[in-house]
Amino acid sequence: MTHVVTLIPGDGTGPEIVEATRRAIEATGVDIRWDTQQIGAAAIAAQGTPFPQAALDSIKRNKVALKGPLTTELGTGFRSVNVALRKEFDLYANLRPAKTYPGVRAPYGEVDLVIVRENIEDLYAGIEFDIGTPELVEVREAIEKASRATIRHDAAIAIKYISEMGSRRIVTFAFEHARANGRRKVTAVHKANIMKFADGLFLRVAREVAAQYPDIQFEDRIVDNMCMQLVQKPDLYDVLVLPNLYGDIVSDLCAGLVGGLGVAPGANIGEDVAVFEAIHGSAPKYAGQNKVNPMALMLAGVLMLRHLGEREAGDRLERAITDVIAEGKDVTYDLKADRDDPTAVGTREFADAVIRRMERVHA
Ligand code: NAD
Repeated sequence: MTHVVTLIPGDGTGPEIVEATRRAIEATGVDIRWDTQQIGAAAIAAQGTPFPQAALDSIKRNKVALKGPLTTELGTGFRSVNVALRKEFDLYANLRPAKTYPGVRAPYGEVDLVIVRENIEDLYAGIEFDIGTPELVEVREAIEKASRATIRHDAAIAIKYISEMGSRRIVTFAFEHARANGRRKVTAVHKANIMKFADGLFLRVAREVAAQYPDIQFEDRIVDNMCMQLVQKPDLYDVLVLPNLYGDIVSDLCAGLVGGLGVAPGANIGEDVAVFEAIHGSAPKYAGQNKVNPMALMLAGVLMLRHLGEREAGDRLERAITDVIAEGKDVTYDLKADRDDPTAVGTREFADAVIRRMERVHA
């Protein structure tokens, strides 16, 4: 079966790691037709808009995209394309596995976690009121009237909202992911002891959803305690499900546990569309130098293959990547003990090594 996938090269070092990843995915033998589209800075340069209609139509049509990092230019008047993509396609689940691999320096021993972050609601919904605006005064007065609280007049206000529907679909996503991937436990992370209504609702819904999955253990943790426990005993945890803000912070904490952003893949998934990417940015200072590590995007490619139902090919690609980094020879500078090690290879050569490894397993 031919899969059609929208391929977004991105900018900065994006095109180099996307090309390396495309070659590695093709070496699995899975039949993919790439529909290449530009968004972000490359699209602004060519078409004057960060979000050309053709790219949107392509993602809508193909339902799966592999995306290189996009530079968010500060002060251009264009909002973050990454955030716009999430909103446009209602990509409500941010999936971030955090797994240690031999060959990657990780300070805390073996870790194998999956973070499921709600991607749309909470403090990140973008509902903010700046000081000095009439809207702020209106909102402050309404809040003071409804809650009998007083808010200082020199305070800006951001609104945190958490809905029943949003909580139900993200927790259900976490349980379905756990079930489909042989995971044993889901932990809901919250601060319901303080935010009794918003986080309290998230926790109540999480408990209701958990009751429908008797085959998977369920527990909850308060987010501050969760952070400490993840550092001290990450092996106690498996799949974590969190509202947006806690999810953002805890997923970076977990990336740190397994060796940093450079090795961490991610996926933004909605009902219809899924976009796979690396967690790191476009590292523009290394653009065009054939230097940076394509491993995180390749691991996002592994997630994508599994999403497409090509689980065996995904497993094979993951094994080839992990074999190459465990051997530690054909790896980029960031995976060498000394970052100035002259034996470090480039982006292309890392991909060559992964492809050779896959061919060897095939033979
Ligand atoms: P960055 O992740 O691009 O780079 C930070 C540093 O991490 C780099 O200088 C480099 O030393 C290292 N690094 C990053 N990726 C690496 C790789 N693959 N291999 C080896 N080393 C790597 O973060 P930044 O400099 O804060 O962001 C640059 C741009 O990327 C910004 O415009 C930011 O908005 C954007 N960004 C995009 C995404 C995305 O598209 N999903 C995510 C984060 C940041």
